[in-house]
Amino acid sequence: MSLTKTKGVIIRATNLREADRILEIYSDDLGKIRAVARGVRKIQSKLAGHLEPFTYVDLMLAKGRGDLPTITGAKALLHFSGIRKDVERMASASYLAELVSRLNPDEQASKRFPIILRDSFEALDTGHEPAQVVAYYEWNAVTAAGWQPELQHCVNCYQKLYPQGLSFSLAAGGVLCKNCIELDTEAITVSPEAIKLLRCYSTLSFEEVEGVMVGKDVRKETNQLVDHIVKYTLDRAPRSKAFLTHLEAM
Ligand SMILES: [Zn+2]
Repeated sequence: MSLTKTKGVIIRATNLREADRILEIYSDDLGKIRAVARGVRKIQSKLAGHLEPFTYVDLMLAKGRGDLPTITGAKALLHFSGIRKDVERMASASYLAELVSRLNPDEQASKRFPIILRDSFEALDTGHEPAQVVAYYEWNAVTAAGWQPELQHCVNCYQKLYPQGLSFSLAAGGVLCKNCIELDTEAITVSPEAIKLLRCYSTLSFEEVEGVMVGKDVRKETNQLVDHIVKYTLDRAPRSKAFLTHLEAM
């Protein structure tokens, strides 16, 4: 039996047997891991309050041979309890957690994903517009996973982009100028303002992007484009996205 100490964000909980749960955790130093929380569905459980989904927690794990590690100690460091009080914030956090889980193989540490999770959950917890939080952090998650679309030059001819007749090609991985538009018949027509906003998603902090003066239509267009990019990157949309889209439409 070996003991490991780590800190991480709880990204998913699945019930196991009568009183246990399997938790998926994005650990700061171990990457995505799974561990068993025994007895946490019992009322008298001392660990339960520290192990709710989206919590950032200090953990002690005990691992025997073969099985998943068991959580023997847990202390919540950040509760983000505002997320669990609102269905849209909860759905947004679930979606971002599923996205990060899908983009990451098991036990491969990353410096950026723990920050993406904590910062996005903090923004959801502290009352920022959920749709903006989702768009900004899903873009940052996809690019952190290695998808770096070309936004400065035409991805085909490498000419500087002029603000007309532009389209975004998922297959080519970036913006096509008006001369190259026929290269990809499935390319999505895109406004120069949306491309500018995407560049901001890559280079500015979330708070700075919130302060960028841009029309509602451009935000919507950009968010839809990011949606296409996520679906393309993962082959299919995360299940939790459909529920979120349904909530946003209400
Ligand atoms: Zn071109």
